Amino acid sequence: MGLITSLSTENRQRLEAIASEKFHQLGLKVYQPLLTRVLAQDLEATIHTPETLPNTDPEQVKILSASDNWSAGIIRNNPLVIVHNSRHAITRQNSNLMHEFAHVILKHEMVGYEPNTGLPQRRQQDEDEAVYLGGYLQIPRRGLLWAIQKKMAIDRIALHFNASQDMVQFRMNAIG
Ligand SMILES: [Zn+2]
Repeated sequence: MGLITSLSTENRQRLEAIASEKFHQLGLKVYQPLLTRVLAQDLEATIHTPETLPNTDPEQVKILSASDNWSAGIIRNNPLVIVHNSRHAITRQNSNLMHEFAHVILKHEMVGYEPNTGLPQRRQQDEDEAVYLGGYLQIPRRGLLWAIQKKMAIDRIALHFNASQDMVQFRMNAIG
């Protein structure tokens, strides 16, 4: 989760508003964790691991199954099919999926394919936006403020939001 100073304040506020709107639509309070399966259902996304992907080149399945160096990707748009790396820790799987959901919500277009994995490639700006929106969906700003007010430690906040401690730290840095 390196990177990211490139997004303007306005853009980050826009993304935060999109996340709030999603919580509102789903009837969630900002301090309630948004589960990936709830958002998957909302977006009518089917989630696969490489092994369960239908109609996929066995060579690609082999590459994806054996590697830690990819997170997740949208394989098909209509209907929406997402493949994700089940070798990662569960908390990271959650943020990987939130990242892909962010691409979907923001209607980002692909600009090519990753040469190694065959997964879609996107513009850097779109990647940065997905990092932020994914983070907001996993730990919304007001949810984080709620946790801080409750004096919850980073590990408890992480547990509450099904997030990694790195993600909690990233979100804390983002709100200053
Ligand atoms: Zn991405």
